[in-house]
Amino acid sequence: MEKRIFYAPVNHPRCGDDLEHPWKYAVPAYRVTPHVWNVGGQDDVCAYLFDTGEGLLLIDTGYRASLYLLVDAIRSLGYDPRDIKKILLSHWHWDHVNGCAALQAMSGAEVWISREDEVFHQRFKGDTSELPMVDYTATHFYDDDAPITLGRFTIRTTLTPGHTPGATSFRWEDTDETTGRTYRCAMHGGLGVGLMTPEMLSRFGGKQEEAHRFVADCEGKLAHWPVDIAVPSHLNQGNVLANLPQDRSDYSVWVADYAWRDCMLGRAEAVKQMYPEVYGR
Ligand SMILES: [Zn+2]
Repeated sequence: MEKRIFYAPVNHPRCGDDLEHPWKYAVPAYRVTPHVWNVGGQDDVCAYLFDTGEGLLLIDTGYRASLYLLVDAIRSLGYDPRDIKKILLSHWHWDHVNGCAALQAMSGAEVWISREDEVFHQRFKGDTSELPMVDYTATHFYDDDAPITLGRFTIRTTLTPGHTPGATSFRWEDTDETTGRTYRCAMHGGLGVGLMTPEMLSRFGGKQEEAHRFVADCEGKLAHWPVDIAVPSHLNQGNVLANLPQDRSDYSVWVADYAWRDCMLGRAEAVKQMYPEVYGR
C-alpha cells in the first residue's frame, strides 16, 4: 500500500514568521472528518472547526497574522465565528493560541487548556519579543476523565507532555450520515520533538523526564489507539499540501489506518535518537 499520509519535515518560511504577508501562505478551508474542517487559513498550523449541530467548537486558533484568514475560512463555509462555544487549545505556544483572544472576544466562547500549560502561558504571556504572545483568558482546564461534549461530539483529552509540559491530545468519533460510516479520529497536541532536546527543554523550563514520558506515551499507549483519520496539528504532520483534493469537502483522502501509528512510533524514535545514553544507538 502506498502511504500518502505521513509526517513530512518542513523547512520553509511560515506565516507566523512573516507577519507582513500572511496571504502568501493562504490555504482555503478543507474537510478532515465528516463534520470537521481545517480553517487555520494558512499552510503551517491548523485550526479545526467542529460543526456540533449545537454551535461550533474550535481546536487551536493559529497565528495573530492569520486570524483574518481563519475568520474568512469559517465564513466561507457558511458559519459564523460568533457561534463558537468552546475553544480547545492543544498547548500554550503562540502559533496555536494567538487567534484566541479575538475569537474569545467575538464569541464569548469558553477557553480550555491544561493546567500544566496555563502555568507557562502565565509565565510567558508578557514576552512579546522572542514569543509574540497575544494574551487570552483560560476559563476551563482539561480533565482526562471528563470528556468535553457539545452537540454530536464527545471529545476525550489525554495529557501528552514533551513538546510542552501540558500538551494535550484529542480523540473523537465522527459519523457521516450519508454513508452511515463512523470514523475514529485523533489529533496529537505536540509532535514538535525539536523542543525535546536537553538544551531546548532547559531553555523553556521543561524537564528531560517529559521527553521520556513522550516516548513512553507514544510507544506504550498512543500507537495502540485505533485511529482511522490522523488529524495533524500542523499541515506537514499529515503531508497535507501534497494530498489536498480538488474537492475540499472530500475528507476521504485523509482516511488512512496506518498513519497515526506510524506517526507516533516515528516521533518516539526521533526523540530516542536525541538520548543515545538512555536508549542506545
Ligand atoms: Zn508548539
